Amino acid sequence: MIKRKELVQSLNKEFRIDSFGRDSAFSRFVPMVYEPVGFDWKSEFTTSFTTYFNGLMLEGAEVVNQVFLAVFPTDDVLATFISKANAGDLLFMHHPLVMECGDPKGEWGRGFVPIPKDWIAGMKEKNLSVYTCHAPMDYHKELGTSVAIARELHVNIEEWIIGDEHGEIGIIGSISSISTQRLIQKLESTFDIPYVDFEGKDHQAIEKVAIIPGCGDKVEWMKQAEAKGVQAYISGEIHCHIDNEYGNRRFQEMMKYVDETSMSLIGVSHAASEYLVKKTLIKEWFEREFSIEPILIPQSKWWL
Ligand SMILES: [Zn+2]
Ligand SMILES: [Zn+2]
Repeated sequence: MIKRKELVQSLNKEFRIDSFGRDSAFSRFVPMVYEPVGFDWKSEFTTSFTTYFNGLMLEGAEVVNQVFLAVFPTDDVLATFISKANAGDLLFMHHPLVMECGDPKGEWGRGFVPIPKDWIAGMKEKNLSVYTCHAPMDYHKELGTSVAIARELHVNIEEWIIGDEHGEIGIIGSISSISTQRLIQKLESTFDIPYVDFEGKDHQAIEKVAIIPGCGDKVEWMKQAEAKGVQAYISGEIHCHIDNEYGNRRFQEMMKYVDETSMSLIGVSHAASEYLVKKTLIKEWFEREFSIEPILIPQSKWWL
């Protein structure tokens, strides 16, 4: 049993929610998806969320008995949360919106999709809390999406790349020699995915990798990694499979680069690449800081 206020303060401090400022992605995407459907997101979500687009989004009852961890607010995740949680329980996610990046072996995605209003109403009726943390988690050096992958794959971090005023989000590091095929098998089991998205070259002995969780499908970032001697580029998405003009353009750019790259390019899905930190580092943080054993809510489908 924890006071919600205390838990939220502790998370805000750990992830520097206030000092980080507005989330550059979700301060654009939240209004972008809710406004066309006429959903009054400004009054539905807490003021702190509509200021920073990170932190406590829905404020439930004052006492938290259980914490649930997920990555995206998909229908299956929210259905599980609403049915299992009791008043005050808190769902901690990385994204406040689902991002459909498409299935490399199936349908292309729709990009960002809003949470259906019935799910939001359902959580409010039960007095549940929702907390999300996006960019501050991607940049976090101890509890971040990248560092979680490095730890799980036993990658020795040599350098952080792809940065701005908040720090960096990508890792370059060494790994004990592994072939592309063995690395793919390892990734499929680590991320619990049925298959990876693969492009580029096959290697017998990979010793240097880049780790870019989420949408790493930027040719410029790939070139940056390649110039540093990386042989395998591991990301959530190596291709943009979003079914619109933007997605198609990005896909074409990437396919042009595939012919010239010397790297193995491996995507494990946007969602799975960012869920790993939840089931490892974030889960351990709750155990350590609050002696609470969070309930994990994996998605039924990672490629969406
Ligand atoms: Zn992320
Ligand atoms: Zn993401």
